[in-house]
Order: sequence, then structure tokens, then C-alpha cells
Amino acid sequence: MERGKTFIISGPSGVGKSTILHKLFELRHNLYFSVSATTRGPREGEVDGKDYHFTTVGDFRRMIDEDAFLEYAEFVGNFYGTPKQYVSEAMDRGEDVILDIELQGANQVHAKMPEAIRIFILPPSLEELERRLVSRGTETPEKIHGRLIRAQVEFESAHTYDYIVINDDIEHAVRELDAIMTAEHCRAADRALAFASQ
Ligand code: ADP
Ligand code: 5GP
Repeated sequence: MERGKTFIISGPSGVGKSTILHKLFELRHNLYFSVSATTRGPREGEVDGKDYHFTTVGDFRRMIDEDAFLEYAEFVGNFYGTPKQYVSEAMDRGEDVILDIELQGANQVHAKMPEAIRIFILPPSLEELERRLVSRGTETPEKIHGRLIRAQVEFESAHTYDYIVINDDIEHAVRELDAIMTAEHCRAADRALAFASQ
């Protein structure tokens, strides 16, 4: 059985990462979504344990002390972290792991797991990103402002990723992400190894 791969999905808040990933999960099998811990409150419709593990700052700090995170970062006033236990377990089961994480966390994972594939999702424009953040209606104007400022910093790092997907048309973006993942499984090095071990 081929070991699963880890895919890091980053991109500015509001670009459509969650929307794309929900559709990707309908399309691909053997996927494992790494549920992050966060200190931000749940949005309407978000389910504890499915979208995030919603935690207090105290619990989050305890998890840091227990070295429970593969990576963690502060993002616009809240903490977010990837519990480390489940990632390698999922890959051992042959599942591809999806990490929806921001830039600082992506850099930490890249340092520990350089083989993880990094994909950056870009909006068609900054104006469209703002429109999406506003129309989602989940953040206050100040929070939206903070996320847009952060977005401009993140744009400058998009070129350091392995792939860039532009989320203009949603179906097109999902197809591109699906194609990238399929291509990564067709790499000659992996295929030759699997062939040789038959
Ligand atoms: P993220 O997870 O990156 O913060 P979301 O998936 O929550 O972003 O998407 C932000 C908003 O943009 C949502 O209201 C979503 O319905 C909308 N959206 C996502 N993709 C597109 C798209 N391609 N075109 C128009 N609106 C989109
Ligand atoms: P949101 O609050 O919009 O769900 O997420 C804000 C940002 O935090 C997004 O860029 C998202 O990718 C990122 N994020 C979510 N979970 C994690 C995590 O576990 N670690 C890191 N570093 N970032 C995360």
C-alpha cells in the first residue's frame, strides 16, 4: 500500500479554501482533513471536532507545553494549531492529509516535513477577496480589515509554494487541486519504488 502524502493548503482568509476543500472531499477518496485546534469562536454552522477543535487559550497553551502540535501560530488575534498525533497515523493508513493552515504554520511544517506539498490559493483580485470576506458575514469590519492586511503579506509568499491555484471559478479551482494531487501520486520516484517492491 502506498503511504499517504501531506498537502498544505494556504491562502488568504476568504479566498475559498473551506469551500474548495468541501468539494474536494466529495470528489476524492482516502483523504484525511486535519482538524485544527483554535481559540477563535465557532462560526454559524461550524461543528466542534469536525471543522475545528474549539479551545480556550488556557487549553491551547497546555497543548503547546505538552508538545502536542506539529505546528501552531497566532493569526489575527487567535491561536491555531495542528495536533501532531493524527497526521502520521493517517498517512500510514494510506490517506492523504490535508492541512488548511496559514503561512507561518506552513513554514514550520515545511521545515519538519520537506516532502509535504504546498499549494497556495489566490483570489482573482484583492477587491474580490474583500467582497467574499464581507459577503460571508462572519467577521466584524475590524477583523475583516486585519485579515485583508494579513492577506497582502501572504500574497508575497505565494511564489515560495509548490503550486498556485487561482480560485476564480470554484469548479475549475477544485479540478486543478484534484489534478495536482493526482499528479503528485504519479511521480516517477514513488511509482518506481512501488513497482520494484511488487
Ligand atoms: P476561506 O476558507 O478561505 O476563509 P471560504 O471557503 O469561507 O474561505 O469562502 C469565503 C466566501 O467566499 C464564502 O462565502 C464562499 O461561499 C465564497 N466563495 C468561495 N469560492 C468562491 C468563488 N470561486 N466565487 C465566488 N465566491 C466564492
Ligand atoms: P479561519 O479563522 O478563517 O478559519 O482561519 C484563519 C487562518 O488560520 C486561515 O488562513 C487558516 O488556513 C489558518 N489555520 C487554520 N487552522 C490552522 C492551524 O492549525 N495552524 C495554522 N498555522 N493555521 C491554521
